[in-house]
Amino acid sequence: MNIDIIGAGIGGLTTAIALEQKGIKTRIFEQTKQIKEVGAGIILANNAMQVYEKLGLRKIIEENGNPISSMNITKSNLKLLSKIDLSYFEQKYNTKNIAIHRGKLQQILINQLKSTEIKTNNKLTSIIKSENGYNLNFETGKQIQSSTILGADGLNSVVRRELFPENNIRNANQVCWRGVTEYELPIKFRNELNEAWGKSERFGFVQIAENKVYWYALKSFKKNKNEFSINNLHQYFSGYNSIIKDIINSTKKKQINIAEISDLKPTNIWHKKNVCLIGDSAHATTPNMGQGACQAIEDAYVLSECLNKYEIAKAFSEYQKLRLPKAHQVVKTSWILGKIAHFSNPILIGLRNQILKLTPSSVNRKQNEQIFQLAKV
Ligand SMILES: Cc1cc2nc3c(=O)[nH]c(=O)nc-3n(C[C@H](O)[C@H](O)[C@H](O)COP(=O)(O)OP(=O)(O)OC[C@H]3O[C@@H](n4cnc5c(N)ncnc54)[C@H](O)[C@@H]3O)c2cc1C
Repeated sequence: MNIDIIGAGIGGLTTAIALEQKGIKTRIFEQTKQIKEVGAGIILANNAMQVYEKLGLRKIIEENGNPISSMNITKSNLKLLSKIDLSYFEQKYNTKNIAIHRGKLQQILINQLKSTEIKTNNKLTSIIKSENGYNLNFETGKQIQSSTILGADGLNSVVRRELFPENNIRNANQVCWRGVTEYELPIKFRNELNEAWGKSERFGFVQIAENKVYWYALKSFKKNKNEFSINNLHQYFSGYNSIIKDIINSTKKKQINIAEISDLKPTNIWHKKNVCLIGDSAHATTPNMGQGACQAIEDAYVLSECLNKYEIAKAFSEYQKLRLPKAHQVVKTSWILGKIAHFSNPILIGLRNQILKLTPSSVNRKQNEQIFQLAKV
């Protein structure tokens, strides 16, 4: 079996590793000339780390990242509103939650590939059904034949556009700034993710290596992200705890990246004949639960197990059956969470904060229990 993967993101790379380990041959086609290092961090939650344990990558990821034992929601002054204690899950699954630089993770994944070639500078532009499978057309004018395709090409997937055209991208009307800075956090904050919620905006930060902090900031807009300027970032968060202000001020502006937040309205068709979608191309989510990449990593595991057990049509349909309910639960919950986090009405904010404070930790744990449990294949 030969499989062509479109996209060398976290989803495509992890899938190639998982398939290689099953003895299935893959090629990856990536649009960029060089796989760029995104100047941001990422949190690999327990479910993702369970997959990396199965793939033999847990240790190297742990060595290159920083363990996170709680995820907190706070007020803008960093007073605690809600805490998810991750140590329970660490013990249950014998894996930690790891915050790591995206560039480091990418490099670890690339280094792991043995027989798979990553064909960079290959932007897929169209797919045409042929007698023996499919013709993949690239921007360079090159055309190649393919029998089986995995679309791992992200939110704006060309594979999805070509073969599953009825999908909707939803804009959350939130702008997101992300950065990594050299900063020594007080000891108390070194093994936790803190996200401070204010009025129509929030700020999150986490240590990803010694004296290295990854942060993200989001703000609601009415029409588009240009309503806000990176030059005023410190002003938007001037009422926040001084640690947050220090983190912003210590980051070089050139290294901050800006994006509008979107997701994919849940859709029930992830595969057709010998083509299947994985990761963001199938179920892009807003980043409010920090689960987008984790869900792509779970896809990689489940799909590789299914392809190892069944012929292609059955493998794709079993994969969708096993993965769709949880992936959609993440998309839906994350969308609502993003709205609640950005309340602007002071009465609603007060009510929200009271509810967060009063919610028993057992409820928070139960919600994560479902997210962290891998499908049985
Ligand atoms: C602000 C923010 C914070 C986030 N934080 C977290 C987090 O903490 N934890 C977490 O789990 N997730 C997080 N996510 C989500 C996570 O980044 C994505 O879900 C994840 O990167 C999806 O991986 P993917 O491989 O499916 O797609 P992508 O990462 O989008 O990769 C797609 C790849 O395909 C390539 N490609 C695209 N089109 C073509 C084409 N036509 N031809 C060839 N190649 C193509 C792209 O260049 C890219 O390399 C966050 C997202 C955002 C926006």
